[in-house]
Amino acid sequence: MSPVSPKLSIRDLQLDGRRLFLRVDYNVPLDGSRVTDDTRIRETVPTIRLALEKGAAVILASHLGRPKGGPDPKYSTKPVAAVLASHLGRPVEALGDCVSEETLTRCKALSPGDVVLLENLRFHPEEQKGDEGFAKKLAALAHEYANDAFGTCHRADASVSALPRLFPRPSAGLLIEREVKALGRLLRDPERPFVAVLGGAKVSDKLPVLKGLLPKVDTMLIGGAMAYTFLLAEGQRAGGSRVEPELVDDVRSLLADAKQRNVTIQLPIDHVVASGITAADAGSARVVAGVFDEGLGVDIGPATREAYAATLAKARSILWNGPMGVFEVQGFAGGTHAVAAAVAASQAFSVVGGGDSIAALNQAGLASEVSHVSTGGGALLELLAGEEMPGLEALAPAG
Ligand code: AMP
Repeated sequence: MSPVSPKLSIRDLQLDGRRLFLRVDYNVPLDGSRVTDDTRIRETVPTIRLALEKGAAVILASHLGRPKGGPDPKYSTKPVAAVLASHLGRPVEALGDCVSEETLTRCKALSPGDVVLLENLRFHPEEQKGDEGFAKKLAALAHEYANDAFGTCHRADASVSALPRLFPRPSAGLLIEREVKALGRLLRDPERPFVAVLGGAKVSDKLPVLKGLLPKVDTMLIGGAMAYTFLLAEGQRAGGSRVEPELVDDVRSLLADAKQRNVTIQLPIDHVVASGITAADAGSARVVAGVFDEGLGVDIGPATREAYAATLAKARSILWNGPMGVFEVQGFAGGTHAVAAAVAASQAFSVVGGGDSIAALNQAGLASEVSHVSTGGGALLELLAGEEMPGLEALAPAG
């Protein structure tokens, strides 16, 4: 079954008087014990509220950071509990572990309306090993299971893969439900033309995604440093731009495959060229059409922006991942912002994923103008590349 086929939703679970194990992604940035960005916590509030309205006691579980195989107070989930409590307007008890006898006893004593947060799942190395025994101990805590941690679904970790299989109705939380719906619409039966805009630093990172998407899309728009390896493969010169010469053969075969499939790959026709990629180099920036020998490409040029916007205006489905240039530097962000504006202005069903693209959308205040902003990151890229998604495959089908 496709990982993006509809899943059983938490809405369909009977939760009155039941204990729900809810896998969430509270892998938040911390400064000491202070949560510096609570987006991931806020995003789970609707699912938790729904479970509480349905009469459940909620047992939340997450990983946080990369503790090295054992408890490490630096990565405790305790600070998260306090932040969540302030958003929910009710107490959230932080438990000292996730599989101890005390935890089991405490969970069994929970009443409807109670919310507890388990300690970091990764304090047990069994979590990342997908260990069955560990999953069984977690399963003993609850009657029902839901997963809202889309960003972890590409991993076969115990809490997202082995654990749901121990419940009769493993369901999707509201966040995963939205991801599966949006990505399913894009990947199973997209309205055409389907245009993918792909940017970023390295072809090597994105090659599987490019290959996986080729049979699905009508047009690909390539930007970022990636584009220079494509131009090199076409025999063009791009000065000292960041390229991966060892991938030229792969890119050539991708271009040949695209031709055979009638997929158009649009490459930049002009560039912002500078002497380097830092803010200090912004003064040296100039627009160059076609090939160049001096300097390096830091952004797509104005003619490319216009051409890409024209393609996006005709699209009925859009996927955008990765910046068109070194968008962190204000003077080199124009191409990425132009794509953000074109995606936002389009009438197409549009999905945007990846931290940089989302940051660019937010900078431009356009996040609400696209159909779906994915919480995925690595999970989204692996899904698009056609890789297995153990966390989605473990959920029960809808209906
Ligand atoms: P990725 O993580 O692969 O999506 O790549 C994002 C990074 O690519 C950002 O930090 C950008 O600054 C960088 N990037 C985009 N375009 C260029 C370029 N033309 N030259 C160097 N770096 C770039």
